[in-house]
Amino acid sequence: MTHKRAVIIPNKCSNCHPCPAAEGCSARAIKREENDDLPFVDLACKGCGTCLKDCPQQAMLLI
Ligand code: SF4
Ligand code: SF4
Repeated sequence: MTHKRAVIIPNKCSNCHPCPAAEGCSARAIKREENDDLPFVDLACKGCGTCLKDCPQQAMLLI
């Protein structure tokens, strides 16, 4: 079975700069394409769940 990955719920994300969830991700899996874009989680995610605690908007889920 593959591990879970984090996703960002776009309508909950307030597009913080910097994004505390990204800063706390040891896998560096939370990125932005462009500075103004909402962050997204890439395949480097290990499913640790740290970002769920770091995001002030509860905008992240493990699925
Ligand atoms: S911390 Fe949460 S609300 Fe803020 S940019 Fe990151 S994912 Fe979005
Ligand atoms: S679950 Fe862990 S590895 Fe995945 S994005 Fe969140 S902090 Fe990073």
